[in-house]
Amino acid sequence: MEKSRECTPMVVVQAAAVTQDPSSFPSADEPSPTVLEGLVLPHRFRAWSGSHFEDDSDNLWKLALEGSGAGAWDWNLVTSEQIHSHRWQQMLGYEVGEIAHANHEFVSRVHPDDLATVSTAFTNYLQGRSPSYAVDLRLRCKDGSWKWIHTRGTVVSRDAQGQALRMIGTHTDISERKAAEAALRDSEERWKLALESTGDGVWDWHIASGREYFSKRLVEMYGFTEDELANKPEELDQRTHPDDLATMQQDRQAHFDGLTPTYSNEHRVQCKDGRWKWVHTRGMVISRDADGRPLRMIGTHTDITDRKNAEALVRQHAYFDPLTGLPNRRMLRDRLEQEIKRSRRDGLQLAILFIDLDHFKEVNDTLGHDNGDLLLLEASRRLRQCVRECDTVARMGGDEFTVLLTELMPETDLEPLLHKLLQTMAQVFQLGQEQVFVSASVGVTLYPADGTEVEALYKNADQALYVAKGAGRNRFSFFTPALQEAALTRARLTNDLRHAVGLQQLQLLYQPIVALASGAVHKAEALLRWQHPERGLISPAAFIPMAETSGLIVPMGDWVFEQAALQVQAWRRSLAPHFQISINTSPVQFQHSHRPDTNWVQRMAALNLPGDSLSIEITEGVLLDSNDSVTAKLLEWRDAGLQVALDDFGTGYSSLSYLLKFDIDFIKIDQSFVRDLQPASSNFTLCKAMVAMAHALGLQVVAEGVETAQQRDLLVQAGCDYAQGYWFAKPMAAEALADWVAART
Ligand code: C2E
Ligand code: MG
Ligand code: MG
Repeated sequence: MEKSRECTPMVVVQAAAVTQDPSSFPSADEPSPTVLEGLVLPHRFRAWSGSHFEDDSDNLWKLALEGSGAGAWDWNLVTSEQIHSHRWQQMLGYEVGEIAHANHEFVSRVHPDDLATVSTAFTNYLQGRSPSYAVDLRLRCKDGSWKWIHTRGTVVSRDAQGQALRMIGTHTDISERKAAEAALRDSEERWKLALESTGDGVWDWHIASGREYFSKRLVEMYGFTEDELANKPEELDQRTHPDDLATMQQDRQAHFDGLTPTYSNEHRVQCKDGRWKWVHTRGMVISRDADGRPLRMIGTHTDITDRKNAEALVRQHAYFDPLTGLPNRRMLRDRLEQEIKRSRRDGLQLAILFIDLDHFKEVNDTLGHDNGDLLLLEASRRLRQCVRECDTVARMGGDEFTVLLTELMPETDLEPLLHKLLQTMAQVFQLGQEQVFVSASVGVTLYPADGTEVEALYKNADQALYVAKGAGRNRFSFFTPALQEAALTRARLTNDLRHAVGLQQLQLLYQPIVALASGAVHKAEALLRWQHPERGLISPAAFIPMAETSGLIVPMGDWVFEQAALQVQAWRRSLAPHFQISINTSPVQFQHSHRPDTNWVQRMAALNLPGDSLSIEITEGVLLDSNDSVTAKLLEWRDAGLQVALDDFGTGYSSLSYLLKFDIDFIKIDQSFVRDLQPASSNFTLCKAMVAMAHALGLQVVAEGVETAQQRDLLVQAGCDYAQGYWFAKPMAAEALADWVAART
């Protein structure tokens, strides 16, 4: 047993591993106790002697092996004697006989990095955990270089307890294959590096084994370090957003099945810190088995979070109103289309409410846009409060909102909700220091009773809103077929109106304006009429709004100006040298896009008409809208001596600041104040106040709609300068007016 005591530790260790704890397999340089004391060498054991096996059958095997180019070894696990064939020795560059027949000769040549692999493979084999002992390892050659060897062996003799006593095996030089593999790996590495340099992460998936490789950049993309995910790449896989798994699976399968040349999918991955990242993954199967089943796939991850965020932002802008965060017109349309489908299926009813804030414009213009925004925000909050979660409140732009009420039973009564909505909107709005009151006008239409298409429903709601506003605001109005009829009539009339000027269907009537102190008549207001071939005389209240919405008011306004200019030129000669005609204008005529074609000032100069021969009546709407073009126009008129009258004073916002800011010559007290004028009435007080205020500002006052002597007297008492009304004269044709004036003097 001297021998076993002398034997290299490795042999002892390897033998010990057979019976003892495999984890005790020590490294080559760690001595370990001899445990084979007392073991008897089996009688059958034959050692190599030089290059020969001792019995014939062994000899045959040896020849066969040497012929194949493989080396052979024969190892006595008890004595740790190990015989290496010629080829074995030559493979490492040794002369035959240069290497002692001992296991340590083998062990000492094993690359330190491969020792653990070898011992694990060996232990697994001896303990029956793997069916064969086969392992790739590097051995040091005589010249110090390394060779890759594939060694495989088998136990050929055991003792009575089944412990291995002898193993034989082969050595095959696989350096070339390993070099080729290394070169391939190298080029793969380079590819991965190249891909990584683009900022992308790289993955490599061995489908058959399920092994996955993630590059450094890839794991870092999600806030991990390589170490954290080493050996457990599945942790990253589990971080895919559950909603995205199905499409990933589909896209991958399509590529596996050859339907797409590459695999491409966008999905979310949760980072280590819990945030989600959007990635675009692209990949390709690079090897398949004989049946075409994918074996390996490589690909990349590109971080597209920024792009996705930008897309979300664009979507947000495209579908939501930036100020209130409410769905916008586009989004509402999508929803309405969906809801129509759903209601059709479920036999339910929908209601569409067009809502317009009354007097929003005044607030915006007088208190500034910031306060206007505050008002809109608060209004949208109140609207939301009035409806259920399933309903949609959308902002269509400006002060227009739309509410879509869904899932209504056919018998649902909407009136309580509409009353509540109006009440809520009529409550005071606190805008910083300011308190304002606005109200809402609401037009309502129902699906399917009033219409089944989006366009038709919108049109209905719009008509109903038009009626609600026309009826004095702060109210709701349901769409009815009569509205539909009225809308149709409007459309037809608008069409007829286009030809009215050319067909000479328009006419100007004149209503005298009387100087109250003297009774003199040096002024008249031109009032437009439309002689419709079928419908007869149409009043301006009926067709001016149509002319405004269609833009026809601009050429019509120019026509009015031209007629009045020619008329006043004539009357200045025939009636009174300072005669003045006032003409009405619409705010639309002041809008940029509708700048009149005719320059009135130039035209008057051409006609040799002094500026004060015309007075232009404007409404507060023009001043509210005041932009640079309005201001410029008013200044141009003032410089030319034209006078400006503020019509319908007292009905609108009636802001003093306007009177001061713009150079106004007259205010015209609206008929509504004159109508109920009684000595002790509040209207009388108001009239007196308006006159006093106007005079204090250097303006003159015209009262409209004077129908009785008492009204006239009270206006005289109030200090009013001029008056017009049926009590003096109704609007009349030009010739009639000339006669009327002549008759008075
Ligand atoms: P407005 O400028 O306030 O004109 C006064 C309106 O009151 C006229 O109605 C006139 O006929 C009516 N009126 C006059 N005296 C009395 C009275 O004693 N009692 C009553 N109840 N009414 C009286 P009309 O002519 O129907 O015009 C209505 C409105 O149409 C005008 O109101 C004006 O705003 C607009 N309009 C008329 N002509 C034109 C025009 O050429 N261009 C523009 N843009 N608007 C015009
Ligand atoms: Mg007028
Ligand atoms: Mg008026």
